[in-house]
Amino acid sequence: MNDTSMTLAVLLYGLLAGGAAILGGTFVVLRREWPARVQEYLLALSAGFLLSLVFIELVPEALHTVGPSAPLYMLAGYAVLHFFEHTIVGHLHFGEETHSEVMVSQVASYSTFLGLCIHAFFDGFTIAVGIQFNYLVGLLIFIAVTLHKIPEGLTIASVMLAAKHNRRMALIASVVVGVATFLGAAGALMLGGISETLVGTAFAFSAGIATYVGASDLIPEINHSKNRIIPLLVFVGMMLFYAGKVALETFAGVGH
Ligand SMILES: [Zn+2]
Ligand SMILES: [Zn+2]
Repeated sequence: MNDTSMTLAVLLYGLLAGGAAILGGTFVVLRREWPARVQEYLLALSAGFLLSLVFIELVPEALHTVGPSAPLYMLAGYAVLHFFEHTIVGHLHFGEETHSEVMVSQVASYSTFLGLCIHAFFDGFTIAVGIQFNYLVGLLIFIAVTLHKIPEGLTIASVMLAAKHNRRMALIASVVVGVATFLGAAGALMLGGISETLVGTAFAFSAGIATYVGASDLIPEINHSKNRIIPLLVFVGMMLFYAGKVALETFAGVGH
């Protein structure tokens, strides 16, 4: 894959993933019936897909590329998201905001918004680093991440509404989360221009990011679900990952 087509792929995937978040926000703002169940299905599939991706592709590849220092970057990736989503931000969880009591202060909604923007930035970043590292891996990351982007847009729009912002603000918030996703992808593209080592390091870091999104953002939401089918769908996500990987290697001729 040459540089131009790689750049275009990164920008396109960044745009699609960001667009999915905006779509989720639009559902909420237009008060379209977006059944809670569908949202939980997507979160569960995304979690299973992401976690298999982490264990089967990202961790081994990061160790292979960066060597013994890879685990430290993985931990750093995990730590950075934990810091921005759940240390400096008081209240952030995926899915519709049902705790309007904690959203009475608009400050709380802005802090959740900030946390989600940083999360979204790293979603885009992870996709782009993956594509630069290996197109197949990048494509799988794109699928894994995009599965939870509609619920993500829905999350931020419903947070804004719960905090009594108007619908226009709720839509703007989901657009900003979409733009942050795209900027993350575009930003990671710049690393590629600097050095290959940097891409390898960023790749290890992304493994930590993806672990956080899968295991600490998505899984807890699924475990709260009253619908017992949802936890089972995590396994379906894991199998989907495997099937997707084999299909891409076999039919699209992309591989290592
Ligand atoms: Zn809440
Ligand atoms: Zn996300």
